[in-house]
Amino acid sequence: MVGERRVRLTEGHCMENGLHCPACGTYTTISDIIATGQCRNGGGRGDCDVHLHVDVVIED
Ligand SMILES: [Zn+2]
Repeated sequence: MVGERRVRLTEGHCMENGLHCPACGTYTTISDIIATGQCRNGGGRGDCDVHLHVDVVIED
């Protein structure tokens, strides 16, 4: 099943420089998410198989 959930990043995420993976809860920095597309528990390093990416939303 393919699903998509969105998490709005806030100033708090910037102060912590990251967020907890919505799927497994592993803390991952925003730069790691951009670089790897997964959380720290994803890919070959762990068992989390969700893909994460960061979008910038432009509203007119
Ligand atoms: Zn995860």
